Amino acid sequence: MVNQGQIDHLLQESGEIIPPASLVEQVYLKDHKEAHRQSIENPEGFWGRVAKELDWIAPWDKVFQWDYPTFQWFLGGKCNITANCLDRHLTSGKRNKAALVWLGEDGSERVYTYGRLAQLVNRFANGLKSLGVGKGDRVVIYMPLTPEGAIAMLACARIGAIHSVVYAGFSVGALRERILDAQAKVLITADAGYRRGNKVDLKGITDGAVEGLDVLQHIVVWRREDEKPELLPKEVDFDDLMAKSSIYCEAEVMDSEDPLYILYTSGTTGKPKGVLHVHGGYMVGTYYHFKTFWDVKDDDVYWCTSDIGWVVGHSYIVYAPLIAGATTVFREGAIDYPHPGVFYEVVEKYGVNVVFTAPTALRMLMRYGESYPQQYDLRSMRLLTCAGEPLNPEALRWTYEFLCGNGEWGHIVDNWWQTETGAPCLGTPATIPVKPGKVGIALPGAVMDIVDREGEPITEPDKGGFLVIKQPFPHFYRTVYGEPERQAQDWNTISGCYLTGDVALRDADGYFTVVGRADDVLNVAGHRIGSAEVESALVSHPAVAEAAVIGKPDELRGETIKGFVTLRMGYEPSEEMVAALKAHVRQEIGPIAVPAELEFTPTLPKTRSGKIMRRLLKAQELGLDPGDITTLEE
Ligand code: AMP
Repeated sequence: MVNQGQIDHLLQESGEIIPPASLVEQVYLKDHKEAHRQSIENPEGFWGRVAKELDWIAPWDKVFQWDYPTFQWFLGGKCNITANCLDRHLTSGKRNKAALVWLGEDGSERVYTYGRLAQLVNRFANGLKSLGVGKGDRVVIYMPLTPEGAIAMLACARIGAIHSVVYAGFSVGALRERILDAQAKVLITADAGYRRGNKVDLKGITDGAVEGLDVLQHIVVWRREDEKPELLPKEVDFDDLMAKSSIYCEAEVMDSEDPLYILYTSGTTGKPKGVLHVHGGYMVGTYYHFKTFWDVKDDDVYWCTSDIGWVVGHSYIVYAPLIAGATTVFREGAIDYPHPGVFYEVVEKYGVNVVFTAPTALRMLMRYGESYPQQYDLRSMRLLTCAGEPLNPEALRWTYEFLCGNGEWGHIVDNWWQTETGAPCLGTPATIPVKPGKVGIALPGAVMDIVDREGEPITEPDKGGFLVIKQPFPHFYRTVYGEPERQAQDWNTISGCYLTGDVALRDADGYFTVVGRADDVLNVAGHRIGSAEVESALVSHPAVAEAAVIGKPDELRGETIKGFVTLRMGYEPSEEMVAALKAHVRQEIGPIAVPAELEFTPTLPKTRSGKIMRRLLKAQELGLDPGDITTLEE
């Protein structure tokens, strides 16, 4: 039942949503603005205090050193992130607490306590060691969203190997490119994944991706199907390796600044960007935000709908919730399969208290209508958070009304971050009003600003510019694997700040609105895809001479991809050609990068220096003013 106070909140002229008093009263961090002030005025004191809440093998000598554009946190400190994810809880009364609750689309469920998870991670870590994997070695993980995927990640971290998870929705070309770029010694993969009841042949994709690759010494295959694919040379069975290995593996002593993982994301060039995170700062920062922003308590059940293939899955399915000793639900497959009410069914059945999801998921739920949430008891859901793309006011309001009972039991907040930042920088903490269409304020640790083309800060409220980060925090990425100059470019581009690539504005109260990307990176259903990557996939087809892709606004997915293609002589546009090019992109990158639309064109607009003007194509497509086109080729 909605009470009058809550309706008044909804009807406030400003459209603000005031957090329910019951929520505010019990939050762990009462004053984010004050915490933010402290984190900026004295970052060393602030982060040093947070770091002391965790276990270290040896203390640090110095909290922070900045040798622009590189920096270090907790210098000289020795630790291992898995000692905080696992060992710390075994002696603090959480050994028998559920750490991970995994759900399959077919209704299957597996629960892992901290004790059991620790044992499996240790076993698998020993298994990897027996294959010759050691500190600093790169291991690519191409796994469906399953406990085995998380165990593989943690086992790598345990022995100091650097994991690089490749989203299981990527295909042959993308997987191969990432294995090569990381020069991985071992690949951990599976025979199959499941989505919308369909089996995804991961083994087939793996076979294609590794063909003729010498760099890999071993491939570990998790065979979940009844019919087990035969093992090829170099291949080892996941379960066998686990069974053969002993149950304890001492955590490798890592320097705070030793690499934890590489996660490839899209940049402005065709080559994916291998964002590298480290053990020490990452564990401190991701844990801090989990505790203070997600506000997950000891007795809570937390559900993150992302995937281990994305940074959200790294930080907020695997690492931070385990460091905090939380119970995390995660589920393989689609959020509306096998029926449109399954999201609510999970919330009700597991008594989920805190959810982390994406606006695309909420829009999908909204499309099915309120009759579904109304069939379930959602009152356990105290806080619903989302990130990944702009949260449109309509989806926010619908979710607040039908999933949060208009504030009677729940609340919804947005937060902004990216692969590079490891954890959120902007967000609406549960203690301050939600302003629809605005992400929120700068969170502790993040010095955020908006600058113009010349790098000058924009102080005027509500004026758009480039969103920048002015100072590194512990969980910020350290480098781009194998391409340190790319990290330097990220920092150097303008005014000595880190350029996020997003366009944003800030209101007089310090609330930011993130409008979208300023560069040629697309955001499809919350997933970052580089225009250049899709273009190079298209151009690698023998029929294509040139290609350009743009993002088109889409009600459900935020953006969809439209490609413009010039064919080589001797090839003709046809329906078959469209299908062939889409299949090619699917094979080269994966289903998420397949253009929804392809248009054949005899020429593409270019600058005098020969660069394709995607901006002009986009303006033409959307009927907008193309802006400055004076450099256009005549
Ligand atoms: P990724 O590195 O794949 O996590 O993608 C990060 C990008 O997603 C950001 O640079 C933004 O463009 C977009 N993004 C993430 N969170 C939000 C949000 N809350 N609002 C608007 N855009 C977002």
